[in-house]
Amino acid sequence: MDVDAHPGASALTATDVTRRYGDIRALDGVSIAVPAGAALALVGESGSGKTTLLRCFNRMVEPDSGTITVGGVDVREGSAIQLRRRTGYVPQSGGLLPHWRILRNVALVPTLLGMDDPETEAATALELVGMPVSRFGRRFPHELSGGQRQRVALARALAARPGVILLDEPFGAVDAITRAELQSAFARLRTELPVTALLVTHDLAEAARLADSMAVMREGRIEQQGTADELISSPDNEYVASLFEQALAASSPLRRA
Ligand code: ADP
Ligand code: MG
Repeated sequence: MDVDAHPGASALTATDVTRRYGDIRALDGVSIAVPAGAALALVGESGSGKTTLLRCFNRMVEPDSGTITVGGVDVREGSAIQLRRRTGYVPQSGGLLPHWRILRNVALVPTLLGMDDPETEAATALELVGMPVSRFGRRFPHELSGGQRQRVALARALAARPGVILLDEPFGAVDAITRAELQSAFARLRTELPVTALLVTHDLAEAARLADSMAVMREGRIEQQGTADELISSPDNEYVASLFEQALAASSPLRRA
């Protein structure tokens, strides 16, 4: 697989993907498709398989059967390490290296990829997320707030200009105001970068705000994939209908501004 020559966004597909853990069917015949440059949110209750599906796209999870493609190429064709270097990943905890300064954390993947000027790439990414290197580059992760750390985690995932970014509940562990700020930063980023995004969230309002469409997962299966409007106006089943009724009853702003 040619890992460096894809400055643009990559389309993603999962086709009939299955993954078991003992008796648990974490993924039970899952198929999704995300066009290049689009964002898909995976939503659903805890344990429904969201994280397992997300991690199939950087081979942190290997399916038992089915096919995963990134940019039209089966992920099994290249090495898992090369795939991960060109696939941005933001885990819930941020995953920054605690003993490395911010600039070095963000420059890690550009350095591993042998990009010409890793620190400039890192500085550009930090600027994009509103964390200018002049102020924050020399700090350590513990010298930042939780929201700032998540911005840096986003910058780190973007610094090598990946065609794909995978985000696992990236804004879950911060207060509501910080969460709203992070959502705005992410929405703006998406207008500026050619990147395809797969985003796990249990918050339907966040999914509607940040993604072009969403896939509702339940017990390892996709109940329905569509835009927020489609899922609200024509749910395929009771489960999808009740999920949105509950969210709307809690008066979440489900439609994008
Ligand atoms: P979600 O992210 O939607 O909360 P997960 O994808 O983490 O769900 O998990 C789906 C199911 O698979 C759950 O029942 C979970 O307990 C199980 N599971 C996930 N990872 C493992 C693992 N490494 N070992 C055993 N069971 C797992
Ligand atoms: Mg999860």
